[in-house]
Amino acid sequence: MNKQSIYDLPLEELTTWLISHGHKKSRARQVWAWLYRRRAATFSAMLDVNSDCLSLLDAHFYIQSLNETCRQESSDGTIKFLLQLQDGNLIETVLMRHKFGLSVCVTTQVGCNMGCSFCASGLLNKKRDLSSGEIVEQLMHVQRHLDRREQAEQVSHVVVMGIGEPLDNFANLVSFLQTIKDHNGLAIAARRITVSTSGLADAIYRFSDAKLQVNLAISLHAPNDMLRSRIMKINTVFPIAALLDAIDYYLMHSKRRITFEYILLKDLNDRPEHAQELAALIGARNANVNLIPYNPVDEHSQYQRTEHETSLVFYDVLKKQGLNCSIRLEHGVDIAAACGQLRSKHLPTA
Ligand code: SAH
Ligand code: SF4
Repeated sequence: MNKQSIYDLPLEELTTWLISHGHKKSRARQVWAWLYRRRAATFSAMLDVNSDCLSLLDAHFYIQSLNETCRQESSDGTIKFLLQLQDGNLIETVLMRHKFGLSVCVTTQVGCNMGCSFCASGLLNKKRDLSSGEIVEQLMHVQRHLDRREQAEQVSHVVVMGIGEPLDNFANLVSFLQTIKDHNGLAIAARRITVSTSGLADAIYRFSDAKLQVNLAISLHAPNDMLRSRIMKINTVFPIAALLDAIDYYLMHSKRRITFEYILLKDLNDRPEHAQELAALIGARNANVNLIPYNPVDEHSQYQRTEHETSLVFYDVLKKQGLNCSIRLEHGVDIAAACGQLRSKHLPTA
């Protein structure tokens, strides 16, 4: 029989599954606590759980499937984990240290089909979606790494900003979010979770309706359709007006503010007039803008990084227009922490 990852099941599903196999409802909570609070790596470690139940679980599920093939630690505390999936594919997960806590950046797909021209993952094409268990396990892998350290710390924040388009793997994303938010387990607060999307407008409506209350970040990167379509193929499917309609729906149905991510690309979208246009586009929406320094994907990259002084001018224009704005701090520069870089280093022809 093909076993499944136990992390695929949110608590409710595990409860239903155990009940349908003749076990008490309370058993699910007990197993869940072993999984997420004590981070058990095997079923046999769950000492106080009924042995019949453990044999049943062991026959149908596994706990660990990711194999760490490489780990790089940066001088700023950022750690990149290169993880091998059961089918041999490689993914990466990043731990970042901030003043406000520890955040983990998870991957949702092997490769990505969106084909953004500035992104290393966009050049790889999607091989497959990750299961929700594979996304949850990335977090558990990092948490176990922290548990083993002398001063054990807890992951406090999660960003869904690794390789892949999360809203293109919708059901597994939702299941992952339900699991990590569950107060019986890791209990990561919704306000500490951010999902970043390239702007799949139709899925943003469904995401709003799922009422997960997590933060949403939109990779906008350009203030008008002409420019955005040039750098992001998805804009030809969902142009800015359609995207803004979906965003307004999200703002209306959640209590969250939205973040617009904007990679500054030298001489392409980084002029003061682009900043003016961006401010006009966002208008009075409850939003903030995160300006991102471009990470060249390889030496032949068609784009260049905007100089810091130019970024500051752009920032000032937005501020003067009354927008909340920040320039993203870079993490793990010395270990190539940009989106997709570690994996692509190991996969020259992927
Ligand atoms: N697919 C989702 C989430 C993963 S990408 C999305 O596009 O939002 C996470 C973020 O990294 C996005 O804002 C993306 O635009 C940004 N990114 C991709 N390539 C980059 C690069 N070379 N330099 C800087 N940021 C990059
Ligand atoms: Fe995919 Fe996001 Fe990269 Fe675009 S930026 S190719 S959506 S991972």
